[in-house]
Amino acid sequence: MAEHFVGGHPALDLSNAVFDRRNPPPHNELFNSPRDIGTWLLAAGLADEGEAGAVAEIPDRHFLNEVREIRESSYALFNAIASNVEAPSQPLGLLFSRAACGLEAQQVGWDGTRLDLSSHQWKNPALLSALLAHLSIEAFFTLPRARVHACPRCGWLFVDTSRGGKRRWCNMRICGNREKIARHRGYMAS
Ligand SMILES: [Zn+2]
Repeated sequence: MAEHFVGGHPALDLSNAVFDRRNPPPHNELFNSPRDIGTWLLAAGLADEGEAGAVAEIPDRHFLNEVREIRESSYALFNAIASNVEAPSQPLGLLFSRAACGLEAQQVGWDGTRLDLSSHQWKNPALLSALLAHLSIEAFFTLPRARVHACPRCGWLFVDTSRGGKRRWCNMRICGNREKIARHRGYMAS
């Protein structure tokens, strides 16, 4: 699980919450239940155990679909940025609308630019969607765009914070090594 968190920003980690973007295996989905979303929030450091447990109990099937939709919109947006093309407005629009959802109905706390939900609010699917969508909007306005890249092997997104700006892989141990092995095999076969 720790190796899933290579994005350098939770919005990129959310975008990466599938196994592979370039060559999707038959079971590419990481979010198969609200419990998976709770586990992900805990592993991402966005929720504590009690909060993750509250998310896991959300009975709403619609919530699962909505989180997937936020993830896919986030991926579409940051993958475009990584590819140096104009940010598509449809996914950005969806993120803004989900970010607004539920906020008019009740008071929420803030931790800087991020939603800081109180314990009973972790059961509220609209506010959880708002929390996730806000992360992507924050990243959209704050990440250095020239430093957002996609791993050439699995398509996971990351922000390169290295001094030289030469990071190429999501994770050198996983994709970097796989690439080396594949190249070596090609060399041996020729
Ligand atoms: Zn990779």
